[in-house]
Amino acid sequence: MSCFLNISGIKKVFHEGSESESNALRSIDLAIGKEEFIVISGPSGSGKSTLLNIIGGLDTPSEGSVELDGTLITSLDENELALFRRENIGFVFQAYNLIPVLNVKENIEYVMRLLGYSQNECDARALEVARELDIDAYLNKLPDHLSGGQQQRVAVARAVASKPKLILADEPTANLDTANGEKLMELMRRLNEEEKVTIIFSSHDPMVIQKARRSIVLRDGKILEDIKRQ
Ligand code: ADP
Ligand code: MG
Repeated sequence: MSCFLNISGIKKVFHEGSESESNALRSIDLAIGKEEFIVISGPSGSGKSTLLNIIGGLDTPSEGSVELDGTLITSLDENELALFRRENIGFVFQAYNLIPVLNVKENIEYVMRLLGYSQNECDARALEVARELDIDAYLNKLPDHLSGGQQQRVAVARAVASKPKLILADEPTANLDTANGEKLMELMRRLNEEEKVTIIFSSHDPMVIQKARRSIVLRDGKILEDIKRQ
């Protein structure tokens, strides 16, 4: 049976110099349904970022395949992949990756503009997500003038604005204090429930991990545990 996201036999070997190599992922199989809300946890170096990068088509596996909503993304060339990512996946990283010379509204609209949304559609959607994320007061500000928590919410707004099917977030709460981390998690959960977007995020904070409905634990590039909660 085919699933929304099928990860099959993924291995990733990094070659560092001529001698040493690192087996970042050793054989990952996962079937993920639409609208799941998943955390990937595990100690530093266990392969969380590598797995998220491969799922999102930012890196290629040494072996194995990733199929997202019927598209075998591991067989796309670079141009096809860039387009596929833009249309289907929203990314939220630890370093917010906001464009410093664009204001908050322009950052939020960035992907929508690339996808050819009209100015009216961009205006309406930017305001809608900004309100939802409680950043509508800062739409004309540059990212530099916002706190870390506010910048992270802008990064989430940008990721969800174009209504991607999948959101990938690599340790999205790592630079936030507890209160802002909790707010961000509530928000992601709300987006998952209300906007029906599949969310996969990584974390090693127990408070954050417990918010997810499915918990996948990595250890040395392998899945140690995969638990669904209600
Ligand atoms: P995590 O995100 O869980 O901390 P990573 O996916 O970043 O783990 O790393 C998994 C393993 O792969 C680690 O041993 C790391 O050193 C190695 N690794 C990750 N990226 C690279 C890279 N670009 N080059 C070489 N080794 C890497
Ligand atoms: Mg990492």
